[in-house]
Amino acid sequence: MIYLFKDSALASMECFVDRATLFAFDLDGTLAPIVPDPGNIGIPEAVRKELAILNKSMNVAVITGRSCDDARSHLGISPRYLIGNHGAEGLAEWRMREKEFSRTADSWQDQLTLLLPFNDRHGISIENKGTTLSIHYRYADNIEVAHASILRAIHKLVPRPRRVSGKCIENLIPENAPDKGIALKILMRQAACPKGFFAGDDETDEDVFRLDDENIFTVQIGGKSGSRAKFYLKDQHEITRLLREINKIAKRIKR
Ligand SMILES: [Mg+2]
Repeated sequence: MIYLFKDSALASMECFVDRATLFAFDLDGTLAPIVPDPGNIGIPEAVRKELAILNKSMNVAVITGRSCDDARSHLGISPRYLIGNHGAEGLAEWRMREKEFSRTADSWQDQLTLLLPFNDRHGISIENKGTTLSIHYRYADNIEVAHASILRAIHKLVPRPRRVSGKCIENLIPENAPDKGIALKILMRQAACPKGFFAGDDETDEDVFRLDDENIFTVQIGGKSGSRAKFYLKDQHEITRLLREINKIAKRIKR
């Protein structure tokens, strides 16, 4: 991966971006810093301001692991597209299937209530986000023990979920639900944007990076080794400058 704030990398971003580019961003860890309690995330004012400017001049999407309602309550702006649940919520052409995903998530929640022994559940919480589930264990007394018992329980779930691990979180996604990569491609088609730009920080964002599509400019936040993104930023704080650079380019290409 190449550090995006190198002159040559910024020049390739400028070359890539045009009026028909869809700008998509993950939320937690990308637009907003990660905080111990995910309920308390906040988009820094400078980020919100730059995102609002971009949203006025270009096609903007937020593609997040949160439910759409939850994400909306933190965003403070209305992007043209908002996709929740790692891609499994908010895509017009998948709307009919969302009910089926929700039934699956409800069933996993019921099963997990029985599968996770009471003693192990201390500090573990199950978040039903509609079409997917997240199991949080950040507050477990013993993180490793909690994680092991969660993995044992997940292994017994019917139907088998697609499991995506994050920072003290296991996300359970219906096997046939669209992921962030599929979501971005669908949005690009809907918006009639042949090009896409995507910035994200964790495992579910790799579904976009893994597309390895020359028409998608990919930026990983944090510089995680093994990421399939082409470019990276050192940490979430650099997102403000990224948005400023994009807005400068957007201003030039609008002329
Ligand atoms: Mg994230």
